Amino acid sequence: MDLSYTAEEEAFRREVQEWLAANLPEEWRYRGVGGYREERDQDIQREWQRRLHRGGWLQLGWPRERGGRGATPVMQAIYAEEMAKAGAPPILGRLGVTLLAPLLSVYGSEWQQRTYLDRILSGDLIFCQGFSEPNAGSDLAGLQSRAERRDGHWVLSGQKTWSSGAHYADRSFLLARTDPSAPPHRGIGMFLVDMHQPGVEVRPIVQMTGSGEFCEIFLSEARVEDRDLVGGPTDGWRMAMATFGFERGGLANAARFERAVSALADLARDRGVGADPLVRQRVAQARIESHVFRVNDLRSLTRAQQGQVPGPEASLTKLFWSEMDKRLQETAVAIQGMYGALAPGSPWAVEEGRWQYGWYWAQAETIYAGSSEIQRNIIAERVLGLPRGR
Ligand SMILES: Cc1cc2nc3c(=O)[nH]c(=O)nc-3n(C[C@H](O)[C@H](O)[C@H](O)COP(=O)(O)OP(=O)(O)OC[C@H]3O[C@@H](n4cnc5c(N)ncnc54)[C@H](O)[C@@H]3O)c2cc1C
Repeated sequence: MDLSYTAEEEAFRREVQEWLAANLPEEWRYRGVGGYREERDQDIQREWQRRLHRGGWLQLGWPRERGGRGATPVMQAIYAEEMAKAGAPPILGRLGVTLLAPLLSVYGSEWQQRTYLDRILSGDLIFCQGFSEPNAGSDLAGLQSRAERRDGHWVLSGQKTWSSGAHYADRSFLLARTDPSAPPHRGIGMFLVDMHQPGVEVRPIVQMTGSGEFCEIFLSEARVEDRDLVGGPTDGWRMAMATFGFERGGLANAARFERAVSALADLARDRGVGADPLVRQRVAQARIESHVFRVNDLRSLTRAQQGQVPGPEASLTKLFWSEMDKRLQETAVAIQGMYGALAPGSPWAVEEGRWQYGWYWAQAETIYAGSSEIQRNIIAERVLGLPRGR
């Protein structure tokens, strides 16, 4: 493994830094771990996505003939690192950009690619993900929403839940059962559903963070044209698995955690507990874990550079960072002593309560994109080769 950057990669890093300096206003930057302002800042996130798209940064890895930059995995990692270091906000259409666009670029029809790809990247069309249902989360193949073929189109009915951003989404990429008589994994289709139609009702769910980031979706005879079916009528499971590959492979990067650990050390100093041996131990532990994460990141990067796609070991990455972030946020709240009990936004809260918000949010990280228990099952069976649990 060669850990040094080439002259071309260093030049690319400078290009990203210069672009950020010119295009990312100071007041948009997240301090430390981010998260807290996420719900309040939809306009910023939309405009930020537009700027990134115009700059050609959202399709970095795509070949030049498809409007991308043909960037290597190392360049993509440099880009992600510089974004994290600069405290760049998230983009509003992140599920469409990070999950659906790569999926459509491989499996989408020519019509779907032409109609959707550019609008997804530009933020003109925001997509949410409609996979989970009240009785189908980890056991996704148990989903019950139905899609029936009627008069030359599809009619969808059922209930989805935990759908992030559904309250501002224009479309959903959604799984529904097309063949109830087929085995669970085989009779599922993936549909691109227009959220602004009479058969779709969205109800935000308020989370313990206090914001309603995700939603229930009720489908009553929602209509979908044939051309909005991704793959074939029973290809939905394969499509879903492909999106999970993009999701687990690309959720976090080491720079984000290193930044958070520095902010944690600052917090300990500012609160006057930097010399406390127990606090020092926990902050040092957070630093060690972020370093372990970076080394593991480099291993994934080496695989990507060699043209290998993320395998089941992506579960190690997801498990590690989500559990690590929970510990880090908990340390930050503990450092504040009694102030740690103040709700985000309280006038007396330390740093506007953003660490408390981060702590609440971190509880979700070990659930979405496959819970920690599910990741451990995958690691046990598919990385370590242990027999299947019952
Ligand atoms: C913040 C957030 C955003 C989300 N956004 C979306 C979204 O945009 N779109 C979407 O479709 N979904 C979304 N989800 C849903 C997410 O994918 C599910 O919450 C997740 O798959 C777990 O499913 P569940 O909540 O039904 O829990 P369950 O599957 O019911 O699990 C309950 C508990 O049992 C454990 N468990 C389940 N099965 C096993 C097993 N076989 N072995 C061991 N333990 C097991 C789980 O680990 C968990 O602790 C989001 C969730 C969160 C928290």
